[in-house]
Amino acid sequence: MSVYADLGVTPIINAKGPSTRVSGGLLSPLVTAAMAEAAGLCVDMADLQAAASRVLARITGAEAGIVTSGAAAGLLLGAAACLARLDPARMAQLPDATGFPNEFIVVRSQRNAYDHAVRASGARLVEVGLPDRYAGAGIRDAEPWEIAAAITPATAAILYVLTPHSQPPLAAVVALAHRHNLPVLVDAAAQLPPASNLRSIPGTGADLVAFSGGKAVNGPQGSGILCGRRDLIMSAILQNLDLDLDWHSWNPPPDLIDKQLLPGLPVNGIGRSAKIGKETIVGLLTALERFAAEPDDARAARHLHLLNQLGDLAPDLSFTLRPGAVPLFGLSAANAREALVELQNGQPSIHLDPSALDNNTLLINPTCLRHDDLPILASRLRAVVIPSSKQ
Ligand SMILES: *Cc1c(COP(=O)(O)O)cnc(C)c1O
Repeated sequence: MSVYADLGVTPIINAKGPSTRVSGGLLSPLVTAAMAEAAGLCVDMADLQAAASRVLARITGAEAGIVTSGAAAGLLLGAAACLARLDPARMAQLPDATGFPNEFIVVRSQRNAYDHAVRASGARLVEVGLPDRYAGAGIRDAEPWEIAAAITPATAAILYVLTPHSQPPLAAVVALAHRHNLPVLVDAAAQLPPASNLRSIPGTGADLVAFSGGKAVNGPQGSGILCGRRDLIMSAILQNLDLDLDWHSWNPPPDLIDKQLLPGLPVNGIGRSAKIGKETIVGLLTALERFAAEPDDARAARHLHLLNQLGDLAPDLSFTLRPGAVPLFGLSAANAREALVELQNGQPSIHLDPSALDNNTLLINPTCLRHDDLPILASRLRAVVIPSSKQ
């Protein structure tokens, strides 16, 4: 590809999946065409985000939504919204959150490196619960009463990181938070597919939900979604948009930003550094419509077909299918760790999923593989991998 060749950058074979460090996924030509068209005309960014909000409300069932520059950006904006609400003075003060509720309660077992984005808003994380079941010492994790016991007048929100194993259940946390008039901010970045999660997670009543757009949705690499309660989404977008204008000429779309709720025009907010471009917004919406319309089993069948083609090209390697929302191939190898590095250092560089290396297994994720990659991937795997049985 000449843009990369001109820069002296060699494309890789991505059998890892849509991770940020390997540049996300591959955009469909429909998405890139929509982005190219969007790039050729200027619009008012508030109008574009208001239109996005209508699409996101239809697809997620939430009251409102915005397109963000990734799920992590959505967490920053969502946290800033929970802190500042619709108060321009608080918005201007962030990330200094002294003088108003600034604590986010989080279950200790849900802490992860992405909550840096929440802390960047000025929020202070307050951990609760002992993840006993992870230590093998017990069977329990945090319980709703432990969250309730940590609520004080300084509490601003509850941060919830959703995985299929998160405890306590999201619905219980939402019910408890709402009894205390507190919002719940959900990191659901990687919880797609299934596509039904687009509706069911906001459907729990969670006040703000962040999804990644650059993962399975197959949107632009630097895209995400923040959807939820109308007033909080209004706060989030106010802290994201360029507001270098004056109150009287400012005429934002009232369904996204109700000017009458504000005492004045906020200055550029903490989320201004998480700016998003018009091409990215249009690209995400185009990809999301496609993602939401494709049945999960059809998507999985597409991926499985690619894996089976790889299997046919390397009949001497015994791949094992790992079914799941995204089907994977596992390849157990006597030299798994060495093979991973050798494939990565080869020409072209091949990136596999390392998450099962401790079991001496290489994982192949089909989501970012191109058809043309398969013969090269097959021959490199055959050359480098020593099957476990020959150990
Ligand atoms: C991927 C991920 C993020 C970040 O998503 P981006 O869209 O890359 O910003 C945040 N939280 C979790 C749990 C993730 O898996």
